[in-house]
Amino acid sequence: MRTLITNGTVVNADGSYRADVLVEDERIAAVGRIGHETAADQLSDLFAGLVVDRTIDAAGRWIVPGGIDPHTHMELDVGSAVAKDTFESGTRAAAFGGTTTILDFAGQERGASLRAGLDAWLSQAEGHCAIDYGAHIMVSDVNAASLAEMDQLVAEGVTTFKLFTAYPDRYLSDDGALMRAFRRTADNGGLVLMHAENGLAIDVVTEALAEAGNREPYYHGLSRPALLEGECVNRVIRFAEVVEAPVYIVHLSSRDALEEVVRGRDRGALAFAETCPQYLFLDLSLLDQGWEGAKYVCSPPLRPADHQEELWLGLARDDLQTVGTDHCPFDFVGQKDLGRDDFRKIPNGLPGVEERVDLIFQGVIAGRITRERWVEVVSTAPARMFGLAGRKGAIAPGHDADIVVYDPERKHVLSAETHHMNVDYSCYEGMEVQGHCDIVMSRGRVVVEDGEWLGQAGHGRFLARESSREYLK
Ligand SMILES: [Zn+2]
Repeated sequence: MRTLITNGTVVNADGSYRADVLVEDERIAAVGRIGHETAADQLSDLFAGLVVDRTIDAAGRWIVPGGIDPHTHMELDVGSAVAKDTFESGTRAAAFGGTTTILDFAGQERGASLRAGLDAWLSQAEGHCAIDYGAHIMVSDVNAASLAEMDQLVAEGVTTFKLFTAYPDRYLSDDGALMRAFRRTADNGGLVLMHAENGLAIDVVTEALAEAGNREPYYHGLSRPALLEGECVNRVIRFAEVVEAPVYIVHLSSRDALEEVVRGRDRGALAFAETCPQYLFLDLSLLDQGWEGAKYVCSPPLRPADHQEELWLGLARDDLQTVGTDHCPFDFVGQKDLGRDDFRKIPNGLPGVEERVDLIFQGVIAGRITRERWVEVVSTAPARMFGLAGRKGAIAPGHDADIVVYDPERKHVLSAETHHMNVDYSCYEGMEVQGHCDIVMSRGRVVVEDGEWLGQAGHGRFLARESSREYLK
């Protein structure tokens, strides 16, 4: 099967140019750049006379690498509720939004092995994903056995381990456990991902708020102060620095945390960070509207609006390297209302896997980042950071044909009425965005075309990933 995409502009992280792109089966076979002298409807010399099965005319549109969302939680069981998107519905929604790879989280139960957590996750994901998928492992129990398992898993292509300074009941690692995990990855080529909020201190703030009778959703936002995110980001970066390990901060939400990343990087720490669309577009005031605020309950919480400008600058300056969603949707009716009387019982998490690529593109429209930087933060940098360089994240020969034909002019409105995520609300209801994923290919197969689903559950493959150490500097 040969598909030729003509007349478009290839936008990669390292540059943009007019080019035709030849896809053969699952891979990009060749990229034929077109000189200034070539007429718009002419093929690049490379492909003149070539016989193909299909030609896609991308005139006026951009050919960009499919998005890589490094942070999703499909079907995550948080105890009181299970995230609404299954691997099938969530990966389909991702594809509609131009994302062709997700990295999701398998969780280790305390007292059990990492392997058991991975196996349970695989049994949920395998055969159901419509796009390619990989696993990080959430580590709840750092001990001799789990440290040894980390070496084995890195060798098998599960190279990334999320540790927590939050959630004392389920996931928190103390300082010694964190140091041991960093030491291990310094040696085995893995990467520690950190949820860096101080869960023990947060519990004290939370309890005081609840005891004073402050139990509306808004108080969730106040219960997890940005100061306690900054504190942990500082701490974990210093731990990693001591043993010369890289560290990746997930869902960085605040100026306080960003300042610590910048400080660490300036010292030479191998510190990297991801932010999420919700921290760039939504703010604390959305929580302050009575029960409606429950729609916006996530951790870390939304911050006052004045944090956003600095996060955008962080993205532009490469102090933040990636944008992930932390996609973890719960219905407003039937799930979020578990916390109707008490914010502590509201399942934490927001939908977003479908909207990420378009939302971050609004930063290009607004002049905050270039189009190349947009591609970098939604695709190329996650590929490099998570061991997929050379396979994904670029329109280049030999790469998987994960391709989006993007119309930078076409506008559309984000809404629960039209989105494909399996959840009853949108955080961006009624927001008009410019830019649209017209055609989405996953490993050479067109899965979305003009709003129509052509993909298939089970098409997605599990990604065994390489160590990304050479890129983490
Ligand atoms: Zn998460």
